[in-house]
Amino acid sequence: MDFKSFIRDVPNFPKEGVLFKDITLLLQNPNALKETTSALFELLEGQKIDKVVGMESRGFIFGPLLAQKLNAGFVPIRKPGKLPSETLSETYDLEYGTDTLEIHFDAIKKGDKVLVHDDVLATGGTANAACKLIERLGGVIVQCNFLIELIFLNGVSKVEDYPVKSLMKY
Ligand code: 5GP
Repeated sequence: MDFKSFIRDVPNFPKEGVLFKDITLLLQNPNALKETTSALFELLEGQKIDKVVGMESRGFIFGPLLAQKLNAGFVPIRKPGKLPSETLSETYDLEYGTDTLEIHFDAIKKGDKVLVHDDVLATGGTANAACKLIERLGGVIVQCNFLIELIFLNGVSKVEDYPVKSLMKY
């Protein structure tokens, strides 16, 4: 399937100068939704996964669909103050300022085989923080996978310790 035909470029969102990759057309097409889930699943090449970790908020779309196919659990990583129970947090640098992500303390067991999933790998800050949280809990990262990798931002350099796979590259 030509996945790229379902991606819409939105100029100046969420701010001036950014060309945003919008995945909502892909989500609303029943066949594209199914094929995307299968293609992400195939990126794992049969490797065993205990937990799929998805980052707020678009990592929550294919994360659980993938987890179901992998017979794995799903773990959300969220922005500060959203998770109700005891959390671990990781702060990372943005172009201007910082951002923080949180995970539930008991979401990953030592030795769990983990797939990290998000819709887009841009600068890699989000994925890097997620990987740190997972490793602090003793998880073993098997792969980081994405629908879209924005190659020109070189996000892979932030997750170079792990296998990184994506369905589309720009
Ligand atoms: P990073 O931390 O790699 O710079 O940014 C990745 C995060 O920002 C991901 O959670 C992703 O959802 C979001 N993001 C950044 N750029 C885009 C984009 O062009 N399209 C979409 N859908 N999400 C983006």
